[in-house]
Amino acid sequence: MSEAKALTVDELFAIDSLLQPEEREIQQTVRKFAAEHIRPHIADWFENATFPVKELAPEFGKLGLFGMHLEGYGCAGTSATAYGIACMEIEAADSGARSMISVQGSLAMTAIYKYGSEEQKQQWLPRMAAGEVLGCFGLTEPDFGSNPGGMRTRARRDGSDWVLSGSKMWITNGTVADVAIVWAQTDDKIRGFIVPTDSPGFQAHEMHKKLSLRASITAELSFDDIRLPEDAMLPDARGLAGPLGCLSEARFGIIFGSMGAARDCLQAAIEYAQTREVFDKPLAAYQLTQAKIADMAVELGKGQLLALHLGRLKDQDKLRPEQVSVGKLNNTREAIEIARTCRTILGANGITLEYPVLRHANNLESVLTYEGTAEVHQLVIGQALTGSSAFR
Ligand SMILES: Cc1cc2nc3c(=O)[nH]c(=O)nc-3n(C[C@H](O)[C@H](O)[C@H](O)COP(=O)(O)OP(=O)(O)OC[C@H]3O[C@@H](n4cnc5c(N)ncnc54)[C@H](O)[C@@H]3O)c2cc1C
Repeated sequence: MSEAKALTVDELFAIDSLLQPEEREIQQTVRKFAAEHIRPHIADWFENATFPVKELAPEFGKLGLFGMHLEGYGCAGTSATAYGIACMEIEAADSGARSMISVQGSLAMTAIYKYGSEEQKQQWLPRMAAGEVLGCFGLTEPDFGSNPGGMRTRARRDGSDWVLSGSKMWITNGTVADVAIVWAQTDDKIRGFIVPTDSPGFQAHEMHKKLSLRASITAELSFDDIRLPEDAMLPDARGLAGPLGCLSEARFGIIFGSMGAARDCLQAAIEYAQTREVFDKPLAAYQLTQAKIADMAVELGKGQLLALHLGRLKDQDKLRPEQVSVGKLNNTREAIEIARTCRTILGANGITLEYPVLRHANNLESVLTYEGTAEVHQLVIGQALTGSSAFR
């Protein structure tokens, strides 16, 4: 094998050279935080199907990760690209941690930020940004995932109050949240409601036996005639565009985050291949291994560049939903492919929690599915390019 010093995966594409100083600082700070507070414990959390949400939330809050690129209300007000970079660093540790941050900031807080009244924003956002109050986002139902417009959860008027009934499934942070953003049918289209989780009639049950995102809390919610005041409704969201506007924000974080998981896998696989000897020489010195590593590095670099391009568009307020779909489709699909290929390089060791690759691969099964499945994003892009909707 050549004695030449190996480049790191980061050095190959020199993506860092495209970052602003503030973005690089955030990258380093979040990377260090993840190395100290997530990585040492993540295998155990994954194995035990737990995540210390309550302990980590104030720490994430101090780092400014919740609603990071929102302005005011205690939010950090960084660029959207900086937020993406932070997602990449957190997800390099585990997709579960990034999911927790996405749900809090991009879904629950964004719903209030985009569609809430000034009073609602003042009441909830500063404490959510600090991680003192946790939120979840209830859109999916047992029979309505890709097609949330068919939801059965309903809010009806009773005098000036609302009465909410129905159920939601697959809700991240559902059992630990203090407040749920719940989307429901009304006589006037789908509307969003801010529902304190201690409201009489609110129940959350943790979902078990997951093989993916085990270090993340997932719950079923049920609403048994929950009585809510008139001002529980988000005034500026009407119809499916409301929740979709939030999903677009969460998808943006995933475009970056999934590349973090892929990067972590590739680094682990390269290190492993350099030290593992098969047939009397390092696995890294075989052409078949190098072909895998080269192809993965190329896809990783392309995905990171795509993320950065979309981040810059978002910072100029020019990012279109179809472009978010391009990023979500490509980067989650390539990330899971990279994770699985890395797993082959690690052989049997690859199936253990001693190494991150199968944990990431399993996590990415969820990341590929939530916030719009790969197929849904193909349909979005197909519709944009042909003018024909093929959803039905
Ligand atoms: C770990 C985890 C956490 C989650 N967290 C949340 C959360 O916090 N809040 C929340 O609201 N939801 C959450 N979800 C739910 C997630 O958003 C849904 O699972 C997702 O939208 C897909 O819905 P579904 O599982 O019902 O699949 P389905 O919609 O039943 O899809 C099944 C298959 O059919 C395909 N399909 C669907 N429509 C079409 C079509 N028109 N043409 C061709 N193929 C199609 C899909 O791509 C998929 O392959 C979470 C899911 C997971 C796994």
